[in-house]
Amino acid sequence: MRVPVPGTRAVAKQTSTGPTPVAMEDNQASAQLRIVPATAADIDALSALLVETVASNGSVGFMHPLPMEQARAFWTAALEEAGQGRRVVLCAWRDGELLATGSLALVQAPSQPHRAELTKVMTAPAARGAGVGAILVRALEQVARERGRRLLTLDASLVEGATSFYRRLGYHTTGDIPEYAYKPLGGLGATRIMWKLLDAREPMRVTAVDRAIDERHMCHALDLAERAEKEFDEIPVGAVVVSAAGEVIGEGWNRNILDHDPSAHAEIMAMRQAGQALSNHRLVGATLYVTLEPCAMCAMALVHARIARVVYGAADPKTGACGSVFDVIGDPRHNHRVQVQGGVLGEEAGRRLTNYFRAKRGKPLV
Ligand SMILES: [Zn+2]
Repeated sequence: MRVPVPGTRAVAKQTSTGPTPVAMEDNQASAQLRIVPATAADIDALSALLVETVASNGSVGFMHPLPMEQARAFWTAALEEAGQGRRVVLCAWRDGELLATGSLALVQAPSQPHRAELTKVMTAPAARGAGVGAILVRALEQVARERGRRLLTLDASLVEGATSFYRRLGYHTTGDIPEYAYKPLGGLGATRIMWKLLDAREPMRVTAVDRAIDERHMCHALDLAERAEKEFDEIPVGAVVVSAAGEVIGEGWNRNILDHDPSAHAEIMAMRQAGQALSNHRLVGATLYVTLEPCAMCAMALVHARIARVVYGAADPKTGACGSVFDVIGDPRHNHRVQVQGGVLGEEAGRRLTNYFRAKRGKPLV
């Protein structure tokens, strides 16, 4: 529920004559979303969002109640800094409504020409949970890259769940400081210091994903998993490597027991075959399909192999390293980033694994 703020209805209408969008993502959720640098015409809308954020106990440096004049004074100064090249303020608009804002404070220290501070990131309560914040932060990261900033730092209050939002976006936790700041409605709250190293390269393009192709290759991986179980009595996990051109270049299934090899996981076997097929230890642009979320060993091997994308079926709450237990694949310290997609035919993959273990224990299948 959006907190009503008196006297803050004025929202600058965005027209096609406004500034060029900084960054857009071509998925449906953001079809109408425009992310553009803030201008003086946006001060009322920005001030309303700031007052609303503070009123809903959001930690952005102010105490409740925040008078509109104070909010306007803050944004006026911020936009002056933006004009001087010391700050970047972006706004996310949809249908003339300001949904979110975020700023980059461009650190001026001569010893830190590569660092910027992510600050004053706010999403209107009504727009939360719709991915707008994530798109805005990615746009800020892109601006940081364009300004030659490679290291982003921020502090996020531990109270509102902002830390998990940044974690999902690849931000690393340095530590927590207790009693860091008063919450707008009172009471001291702890803060978490977080950071992210941006790739110097262009940001990874989110490729249009064809669900039907993903499912077709996952079916292939499921067939291999079945083979592992039926022919070799191995844990049913199968993997397929598909080249950038769409060709299957590697197949694998668990062979630990058969080969007396602790590293013979399906992913490793499939990547070994793909390496042979390409006569190259780097599988650049390839996609790996696997029926179960990769473990830490396989996740690291995927990074070493420069796999572009990993698609898995069932999540593995015991050893999964694509976010379930560890987040080896998403660790921002890697030079190479792997795009991850989980849950493709996940129920089927999970059911087969469950039945394998139930059969071993003489329990009825599900
Ligand atoms: Zn593994």
